[in-house]
Amino acid sequence: MNWSLIGHKNILKYLENSIESKRLAQAYLFYGPKNVGKNETAMQFVKALLCYEHQKEEGRADLKTVPCGACEFCREVGKKIHPDFFWLAKETGDKNISVEQIREIKDKLSAKSFFKSYKIAIISGAENLSLSAANALLKVLEEPRGRTIIILIAERIDGLPKTIVSRSQKIHFLPVGKKEIYEFLIKEKNVPRESAWPIATLSGGRPGVALSYLKNKDLWQKYLDNLNTFFKLVSAKNHEKIKFAEALLSEKGTLLEQSEALFPLLGFWQTIFRDILLSKLGLSDIIINSKIKSELERLAPYFEADRLVKINRDLENSKLYLRQNANPRLVLENILLNF
Ligand SMILES: [Zn+2]
Repeated sequence: MNWSLIGHKNILKYLENSIESKRLAQAYLFYGPKNVGKNETAMQFVKALLCYEHQKEEGRADLKTVPCGACEFCREVGKKIHPDFFWLAKETGDKNISVEQIREIKDKLSAKSFFKSYKIAIISGAENLSLSAANALLKVLEEPRGRTIIILIAERIDGLPKTIVSRSQKIHFLPVGKKEIYEFLIKEKNVPRESAWPIATLSGGRPGVALSYLKNKDLWQKYLDNLNTFFKLVSAKNHEKIKFAEALLSEKGTLLEQSEALFPLLGFWQTIFRDILLSKLGLSDIIINSKIKSELERLAPYFEADRLVKINRDLENSKLYLRQNANPRLVLENILLNF
């Protein structure tokens, strides 16, 4: 058994060492982008702690700091029914995590452990703490509590009160390497190579996104649709391109929504132009959109290398203009007319 997680090797090593040397913080703050693996790592960490204590109790000679994943403790944590483990998040329909929820956690943490082990709480989406909930949590963090651990999970540190952040051991989750995700998809999920590379790329280093491509066939279909649209656009006449821009943006409401819809599309087109350039240079093996390798190779002779570089730079600049609140429609028309 291993950690069963994608990437984050340094973090896992650090957590393992902490368990082994008993140098555990009373509060952790796992932060980083959405879908990068913070919740999964926190759950595995809780399993590891309780599993390790359990093994020790049984006097096992081959003590392991990675969760076995199979014992009753690991299984109960996984189902969130272990009596010494509490998982907390904003209730569906609620605006935030309430002070009552924090008080409940406080009571549970101060009760005696069932297995003379740690008592652990995960607070997922900690940026949703209401002001009074945050104050109540701060009080809990200020009191020495013996063998209790609170793991806060948030996307960004600046969404949390400084007083809470400063009392937590901060663990920063960065996007996972594309290659790690790619290899995981092939080895663990039996994804064919031609799909694994684009999925790994489209995930942007977030394993959760890669997995949702596997679970959600619509997402994959959307990718294929986007590829189709691209090929239509490169050979379209100017008035057709303007029509496309109009149709795409009229579906979105506000300028902000239009901008947000454009970002991933511009990024996606960048990957294609990059791939055409690579095909042109005879480097088809490392293209992202390997599903359309032969189409890209066919397109390559129609573009000068300089022009491909320029289009890519224009696409990058377009994203910059959108960030500076340029009109999405002008940005899109401008880029399409240069295709
Ligand atoms: Zn176990």
